[in-house]
Amino acid sequence: MNATRPPLRPLDDALAALLEQARPLAGAESVATFDADGRVLAEDLVSALQVPPQDNSSMDGYAVRRGEIADEGVPLPVSQRVPAGTAPQPLQPGTAARIFTGAPVPAGADAIVMQEDTESLADGRVRILRMPSEGQWIRRSGEDITRGSTVLARGERLGPPAQGLAASIGRDRLQVARRPRVALFSTGDELVMPGQVAPEAMPPGAIYNSNRFFLRSLLLRLGCEVRDFGIVPDRRDATVQALRAAAADNDLILTSGGVSVGEEDHIKPAVEQLGSLALWQIAMKPGKPFAYGTVGQAHFIGLPGNPVSSFVTFLLLVRPFLLKLQGATQLWPVALQLPAHFDWPRPDKRREFLRARRNAAGGVELFANQSSGVLTSTVWADGLVDVPAGATIAHGQAMRFLPLAELLA
Ligand code: AMP
Ligand code: MG
Repeated sequence: MNATRPPLRPLDDALAALLEQARPLAGAESVATFDADGRVLAEDLVSALQVPPQDNSSMDGYAVRRGEIADEGVPLPVSQRVPAGTAPQPLQPGTAARIFTGAPVPAGADAIVMQEDTESLADGRVRILRMPSEGQWIRRSGEDITRGSTVLARGERLGPPAQGLAASIGRDRLQVARRPRVALFSTGDELVMPGQVAPEAMPPGAIYNSNRFFLRSLLLRLGCEVRDFGIVPDRRDATVQALRAAAADNDLILTSGGVSVGEEDHIKPAVEQLGSLALWQIAMKPGKPFAYGTVGQAHFIGLPGNPVSSFVTFLLLVRPFLLKLQGATQLWPVALQLPAHFDWPRPDKRREFLRARRNAAGGVELFANQSSGVLTSTVWADGLVDVPAGATIAHGQAMRFLPLAELLA
């Protein structure tokens, strides 16, 4: 053990320090509501109208005045017909109005009788077969949204339901945070891009660059504009050159690999030459080495090279960082509490995020190989089990489970 090695930093601590650096980006932009999926709202959406705008029928049937129906079976003349999209006359006393789903309720009517509870008579009248209750089948004006209320707050990350809701108050455009511009590059002389060398022709020691593929998609899903700087060789000058180019016009430079402290790890000296860098040893597994710094105006984040470490540190650190850059309020998914359907007898000094999957019995199972190089585990898993540092787990014990569906969104 190297006595000068800094103590491992708890993940929550590292995350708090990282988020402190993530001041929301200046400059919102207007986008069509149609195109707002995944973007972060940069304004409060206040409704200028009631939704629904007026009382309307939730059934095909007849609008009536309850006080005028003395008994079940009474026949009423039909005084008007109200399809959806029309404006009815007030209900004439002693009559029923034919009405359809979504049509405004005529003034004076206080219930809808669904058509299945009526009988049309040959003379054009309608027989009411069942006494309606007060307000039956009437959707009230404003029962969804009242005029002047905030339906979506600034900082909300928009998805299909929010797009629908914004449209329901008449908004065809929305102010959203601008997309973070992210320069992405991988380091490592062993890396080869798929497509450049066939599997059977791979030279000894070479591996395919897998990190670049999931990191790029993760960034795109988080609303980023990705500038791909490719693979940077393990040389100081090449690393400096790539960093300088990437810093020019980007909010974040994201790299994977080269953040350990071996002499083939050039990220640290290169970032320090151009800006500043803190190398963190985070007390988490997978993913111990992690770097944060700045190069010019750009943030710099260096992820570990091992694919699973890269993946997990992205989800737990970079994802909230990028959401905060966009002004999002919800940075972290709600963890579930689920019983472990496994035993974990050997405690680790570091907090672990095990690749796990829910089973039909409502518990969580582990992927057999939890090595940080085994990318298969990330595809098999549908979540991460959060094991506190130093803890052992007995079968049946409730565990924090972070669903990947939310972390990948
Ligand atoms: P490093 O952090 O550069 O020491 O890399 C740690 C391990 O991750 C090594 O086995 C690398 O070959 C591997 N690795 C680094 N970058 C990538 C990448 N982009 N894709 C797949 N494996 C990688
Ligand atoms: Mg390397």
